[in-house]
Amino acid sequence: MSKGIGLDKGIVVAIDGPSGAGKSTVARLLAERLGYLYIDTGAMFRTVALAVKQANISPEDEQALAAVCRELEIAFERRDGAYRVLANGKDVSEAIRTPEISLLTSRISTKKAVRDVLLHEQRRMGQDGNVVLEGRDIGSVVFPDAEVKFFLSASPEERGKRRFLELQAKGEKVTLEQTIAEVAARDAQDEQREHAPLRRANDAYLVDSDGISVDEVLGRMEKIVRDCEAEQTTS
Ligand code: C5P
Repeated sequence: MSKGIGLDKGIVVAIDGPSGAGKSTVARLLAERLGYLYIDTGAMFRTVALAVKQANISPEDEQALAAVCRELEIAFERRDGAYRVLANGKDVSEAIRTPEISLLTSRISTKKAVRDVLLHEQRRMGQDGNVVLEGRDIGSVVFPDAEVKFFLSASPEERGKRRFLELQAKGEKVTLEQTIAEVAARDAQDEQREHAPLRRANDAYLVDSDGISVDEVLGRMEKIVRDCEAEQTTS
């Protein structure tokens, strides 16, 4: 796989895939095992969506979207073992996870004004390497030269079921059918958008998590990254 990195720069691991494929769990745990920084780019798009809702602007107004993005400072923090997302210093970790914000996120993430600002920000956050970034377009657009790329997938039913259990555990009033339909709607929006659509980079390892434990998925991914690290130190 292409190196394209300076001598003192660490490895970039890109994890892409559709909603509910288990990316967040796997990316976070993989980063912990490797001692790498973890960046959840979906949380960044969600934070923009929340700001758009709070500012009461139209998701179709690109100028207003750009202004919201410019005024927004997104940061990640680790507190008591949990990852928190901060918007201009305020903890929005829970507020960005509602079904309403999920759908709005999918809408605003089709907009070039939003993608341009976040692309720049994601590249800045990952520039030193030793980082795991998860999203939809990390291996294809944000870090096309990432040393290791994974595309994590699972069947739509399995993904819908996982999302349903997650929302139910949080006390959200949703049905399984509704959640599967929402996951499918987001997939369609993410795959069909003009700018940086969800797609597997040609050189990404395809990891299908249907019927496989998180531990097994992690083990396979960790081995691939470790092999890449070993290759880097010997070359
Ligand atoms: O990963 P998560 O489900 O939190 O992402 C929320 C939404 O953010 C996705 O449905 C997608 O529309 C958008 N997204 C994106 N590009 C990324 C990460 C997320 O468009 N790199």
